[in-house]
Amino acid sequence: MRGDGRFGKRRILCVFPRYTKAFGTWEHAYPLTDGVQAFMPPQGLLLIAAYMPADWDVRFVDENIRRTTPAEFEWAEAVFVSGMHIQRNQMIDIARRAHEFDIPAVIGGPSVSACPDYYPSFDYLHVGELGDATDDLIARLARDPSRPPQQIVLNTVDRLDMSKFPIPAYELINLDKYFLANLQYSSGCPYQCEFCDIPGLYGRNPRLKTPEQVIAELDKLLECGLSGSVYFVDDNFIGNRKAALELLPHLVAWQKRTGFQIRLACEATLNVAKRPEILKLMRDAYFTTIFCGIETPNPEALKSIAKDHNMMVPIMEAIHTLNSYGIEIASGIILGLDTDRPETENHLLEFIEQSQIPLLTINLLQALPKTPLWDRLKRENRLIEDDERESNVQFVMPYDEVVAMWRRCMSRAYEPKKVLGRYFQQSRVTYPNRIKPPFDKRQASWRNIRRGLIMLRNIIWRLGIVGDYKRDFWAFALPLLAKGDIEAVISSCLVAHHVIVFSREASGGKATASYYSTKLQEASVPAE
Ligand code: SF4
Repeated sequence: MRGDGRFGKRRILCVFPRYTKAFGTWEHAYPLTDGVQAFMPPQGLLLIAAYMPADWDVRFVDENIRRTTPAEFEWAEAVFVSGMHIQRNQMIDIARRAHEFDIPAVIGGPSVSACPDYYPSFDYLHVGELGDATDDLIARLARDPSRPPQQIVLNTVDRLDMSKFPIPAYELINLDKYFLANLQYSSGCPYQCEFCDIPGLYGRNPRLKTPEQVIAELDKLLECGLSGSVYFVDDNFIGNRKAALELLPHLVAWQKRTGFQIRLACEATLNVAKRPEILKLMRDAYFTTIFCGIETPNPEALKSIAKDHNMMVPIMEAIHTLNSYGIEIASGIILGLDTDRPETENHLLEFIEQSQIPLLTINLLQALPKTPLWDRLKRENRLIEDDERESNVQFVMPYDEVVAMWRRCMSRAYEPKKVLGRYFQQSRVTYPNRIKPPFDKRQASWRNIRRGLIMLRNIIWRLGIVGDYKRDFWAFALPLLAKGDIEAVISSCLVAHHVIVFSREASGGKATASYYSTKLQEASVPAE
């Protein structure tokens, strides 16, 4: 679309809504950093921004960092918004503000694509991925940027081939303000786990960018100031194993060319443990973390949610295999499954102890539209619309017991001594298995050294001097600092501190139990 001279020049304001405080937004880690204010750059909006005709002016505001100003609304001819269900209230509020300036509000992204009826106040709904609906939207705005008399819904029928995706407009953001940088390499997943909306929304045959695109995108991220880590946000990095095997040597070569400045992370199914050829290349490409949806250690439960592929290798064996390649596992866990019983709580805590996985996102089961779970619960009359509840599922166990179990699990899994102990164990059994990249002066740039020193100072002050778990902190940090492993102290404490504080809020009933909730919620702190 870029460069197509048929279009009148327009001014587009892309606004990313503030997140509601949640386990996965990491805001308790930010005060330990050198100025991070948001989790990850919003891929979808930055992609749309890059897709606009070349002569259109595009501005971008992430309201997790600052609030959009009246002058920016005044400037714009249309406002584009995207987000997840958990940001629904905030997206609706952005449309309200756009309408105060009588400009059209356009919404795209995962929430509207799954639930268009959540957004009656928007002028344009962009349902689905980048494709013919996007071209239609651009053509309509080019013809007439005023608000249409009634809502227009544009559905993508022909998706743009991912090999034609432009590089997201990273130049519009300040990467230093983000906890993690990210990159999307594929879309879709071949599995059909009962609770997951990815196959329904994005298909079962993963679509892919070319290795050359991925490398060009990494180069652009570096040009735009990338440091630290890049998270591949694909729902399943090995959804197409052959393609992953083709991509990985390019990533290894890129790391060699750029001096191994960046660590990589991704999401993948646990059965990657059966693929030593992939794991070896991931190790060589400096993948240090994989998020695996283990969901539950109970084989009967895995079967009931169609996640049998987690059992291709015994779970504990799979975890040890990944650790032996220097890869730390972060895991998703779901409570509230039909198979859960009162003893589920102890089984989960035993599993955490045995696996020594430091970070587990423990969510209450949530039925999302466009999932087999939604369809089944609808048939069984077990979907509950009630904004006071933590989940829209009528559990088999009593609701209060499930929520209390979730709170207890969060509180016990994230006692400071426990979570820091698991990180310490990773420093013994996992981190030594990583490659030792040759020294390159780009790793030790003044900028990186300064960032590291600021974070270390903040961590020592906030956790080791004025914090309320000083003893546990020093028991963890001292042996690592004595070995000179400052990086392990910083990376572990950033994550551990967030989950410790979040779990305290959760056990006090102040935090939401599902990152994927469709429940209407306010942003934790309004943007300033
Ligand atoms: S949960 Fe993961 S493996 Fe299962 S369908 Fe979703 S993306 Fe695929």
